[in-house]
Amino acid sequence: MGTKRQYEDEGKDSSSKKSTGFWALGLISAMKDPNLIIEEDEEVVVIKDKYAKAKYHYLVLPKEDISSLNKVTKSHLPLLQHMHDVGVKMAEKHPEAEMRLGYHAVASMARLHLHVISQDFDSPCLKSKKHWNSFTTKFFIPSEDIIAEVEKTGRVFQITSEAAKKLLDTPLKCHKCDFQPPNMPKLKLHIQTHYKK
Ligand code: AMP
Ligand code: ZN
Repeated sequence: MGTKRQYEDEGKDSSSKKSTGFWALGLISAMKDPNLIIEEDEEVVVIKDKYAKAKYHYLVLPKEDISSLNKVTKSHLPLLQHMHDVGVKMAEKHPEAEMRLGYHAVASMARLHLHVISQDFDSPCLKSKKHWNSFTTKFFIPSEDIIAEVEKTGRVFQITSEAAKKLLDTPLKCHKCDFQPPNMPKLKLHIQTHYKK
């Protein structure tokens, strides 16, 4: 499934995507949507991910117009650290849950965003192999690693589109054990054995 198909599942109109790519700006509107905003300060907004891929899934976005990791420079280090700190506070609201904070190596949506996501992946919106691999392979880059890389090199290394595709096409594997399910329904059933409700 291509990136476009992935978003057809998420309520976006494929014809407008093809003609304008307008769907990719959805997070910028979402940052102003009172139904999605959890909290904000002078620098960042925290929203609920509208198509949450787990029980708890938040996005931390800067108010500064930074489109993606590609545009990040050393001058953004204090902001990246602040986004991280805000993400940690969100994660701490769910002490019973295992949470990870990170960025997709190649994001689909504009405005830089930090994912704060629980590892149960218990959500009807998590449907495809691409969804799964985007959160459980190296496609998901921990927030600390991004900060360390920008500290060291002044920027974020961009993987090629071939490398990104390869990560998203990785055969399905449980993130908690060696089980390799044949398909997503079997994976979703299996994950429940690790996260008893
Ligand atoms: P990424 O692949 O890192 O660009 O992830 C974009 C995230 O934004 C996904 O987790 C989507 O579920 C989420 N998303 C897409 N559209 C919206 C929207 N309009 N409001 C809130 N979250 C959204
Ligand atoms: Zn497992």
